[in-house]
Amino acid sequence: MKPSKKNAIQTSEPANWIHLDLKGAIPSAKDMICWMDELADSGYNGIVFEYEDRIDWQSWPRTFRAGYSNEEWSAIWKRCRERDLDIVPLIQTMGHLEWLLRHDRYAHFREGGLVDEICPSHPDIKQALISWIDEVIALHPGIRHIHLGGDEVWQLCGCGACRNRAAAHSAGKIGVYLEHMTPLLRHVIEKGVTPLIWADMFWPQDRQKFAAELPPETILVDWQYGWLGATEVNPGLVKTGRPVWAADAIRCAFDLTQTLSPLRQRAQNLDIWHRQVATGALAGVIHTTWSRSSSFRPLYGTFEGWLPLIRYAADGGQGAEQPLFAWIDRMDAALYGRGLLAEDEDVKPLRDALDEIGAASGNEFERRCCRWWDLALEYAALRNRVFGALAGCKALAVAETYTARDAHVLNMQRRGKAETLRQLLAWQERSSALWRTWAVSDGEEFFESRSGVLFDLLTR
Ligand SMILES: [Zn+2]
Repeated sequence: MKPSKKNAIQTSEPANWIHLDLKGAIPSAKDMICWMDELADSGYNGIVFEYEDRIDWQSWPRTFRAGYSNEEWSAIWKRCRERDLDIVPLIQTMGHLEWLLRHDRYAHFREGGLVDEICPSHPDIKQALISWIDEVIALHPGIRHIHLGGDEVWQLCGCGACRNRAAAHSAGKIGVYLEHMTPLLRHVIEKGVTPLIWADMFWPQDRQKFAAELPPETILVDWQYGWLGATEVNPGLVKTGRPVWAADAIRCAFDLTQTLSPLRQRAQNLDIWHRQVATGALAGVIHTTWSRSSSFRPLYGTFEGWLPLIRYAADGGQGAEQPLFAWIDRMDAALYGRGLLAEDEDVKPLRDALDEIGAASGNEFERRCCRWWDLALEYAALRNRVFGALAGCKALAVAETYTARDAHVLNMQRRGKAETLRQLLAWQERSSALWRTWAVSDGEEFFESRSGVLFDLLTR
């Protein structure tokens, strides 16, 4: 075990936190503890846990989804403390509360009847959220930060009561947002904890000045996941005098007919913020690892698949020395770039390298990453074959209407389909067996959303 980097506050080092989104495909509790060692060894000094419904909340009875028991959470947090990792709870307090509002017993809190976000005009919501914040703080004695989310409140003022409030407010809709968030932020500050929120609700130029009405201790986290262009946090937000931190993305939205995202783009996004940290311009960066775009959208995959980027993000780009990182461009080319297939000769050196790196590695997560990348290559080949077969069937049907039916060609097509189906099932069996061995959650859903989808397309 390498010594951990010292705590951000004690050494005034910038906060170099990783965000673990627990919406889906979470490791077993035992592996989560090993991840804390991996993340501390990589160079992180804090973990932002986006809990959702993976804790059995007293504040929200009967919402707990298969996650970790209180004892398991205690063991995970204990390992964080042993490794000098700041624990930063992230709970959403306005938008992105799909996991809560999906339940009928909390439907009365929905904004405009939709499940995305709460209605800030509901008479009981403020007290419910304050009680929840108290529960979170009680669960984490001594924490210094709590993240209250607050991003992407797309339905803001979606009900009549909120619309009336916005109409009467000089700041309009953002005034209603401020009236909701400010008491929650103040409550956190009164408890001796520093709050963070995502900054995107203040991105529009005409709203930026209103960020100055937030309590001065509030840290605004300006998340920017692009890999070209943006090189600094929003200057309009900096002008408000509130601390502005950045967030990048190790893993975020990608083509969900794949099982791995393009990796170089993510590395470039991380580089943008590495450069900013190197200039001393930033007091903190949160490296996000989204597991879905929102609670109800398709799963991205296991943390292991993104291990080289997790290390690369932590170490300001020095993670480039790790053996798998050298192959990210070849992976991108094979999965996305030039239409290569896993069985192509061109991909063989890559698959051999993955075999070799996996066999030589003493790190379980690295071995798993090699396996996952290899399965991702096979999946991409099957996906291309299914899409090609579907388009081929349609094209043949068109040709038939202009010419005539050729039984020989139809038979070839049927045989090709049957072979692809056989390979698809074999892939699913091997991959889902691994997923079970690794004890990652939500496997059934993941495979239904990938091989299951291809199977449906091919057999409909
Ligand atoms: Zn409302």
